[in-house]
Amino acid sequence: MEYKQRTKPTELEILGILDARMELSEKDQQHYVNLKKGYEGELAFDELTRKLTCDCLVLNDLLLQVGSTTFQIDTLIIADMIYLFDVKNHEGDYYYDKDRIYTKTNYEISNPINQITRTESLLRQLLQPLGIPTQINSSVVFINSEFTLYHAPIDKPFILPTQVNRYIRKLNKVNSRITNNHKALADKLVSLHLTKSPFMQLPKYEYGELRKGVVCRGCGSRKMFIKWTNCICKNCEAIEGLEDVILRNIREFRLLFPNDKLTTHSIYNWCGEIASMKTISRILEINFKTVGARRWTYYK
Ligand SMILES: [Zn+2]
Repeated sequence: MEYKQRTKPTELEILGILDARMELSEKDQQHYVNLKKGYEGELAFDELTRKLTCDCLVLNDLLLQVGSTTFQIDTLIIADMIYLFDVKNHEGDYYYDKDRIYTKTNYEISNPINQITRTESLLRQLLQPLGIPTQINSSVVFINSEFTLYHAPIDKPFILPTQVNRYIRKLNKVNSRITNNHKALADKLVSLHLTKSPFMQLPKYEYGELRKGVVCRGCGSRKMFIKWTNCICKNCEAIEGLEDVILRNIREFRLLFPNDKLTTHSIYNWCGEIASMKTISRILEINFKTVGARRWTYYK
């Protein structure tokens, strides 16, 4: 049972917005692509764990802290023991040599075993003072069906693409019964989850230099026009309610500029003047709390 859902990481969301509104440097672009790929891999694994019918609690995406060390868990499953998973979405041919992993062109990537070992140790340290004696079983899941790892050692906790489904079926057969203690543990972990990641790597950006206007949710095109109460994409003909488009863009504005005041004028400008000031002000009034009056009005 999915006990905690995964949400799109803020860093990924912000990078997606920035990608549509400015030219990202090659480094930022690469970082964005990697994050997106990693997230897609995690979602693919979520789809499999969602099918589990055994008595278990699935906690997706936890960001926890022990002392001053912050660590992240892709998937944690509470069943007959705790199962920890680090999900990797690498694609292509890789090889394993003396505890290191390389691409076919001899470019070394970090070995996820080191990461999962560290995560397991930190989780143990977190659970110790809570007096929870638990066995932890950690694995690295390579979720991408186009991934090959030559010379993969048999004694490492890798779950290769050809083994993922079998692993899930095996996990489904474990003899577990979720008690109130398990639920208390899950609640405790969820309560300790940090929502603000200290690992965000974002480029510098300023309001003035970002492109204004709305982009199509479906294809990313900027060729949008209004017809009645809808916004239509000239490129892919997708239709989205105007209010939804404006709200989506308000959300973007707030994510990027959390300290800026939300005003009719700022959103009118941010949306590239696609809707009238009157429409924007009505949408803000309905969906947010009005503070102040007349030309000093802003929304919360
Ligand atoms: Zn479109």
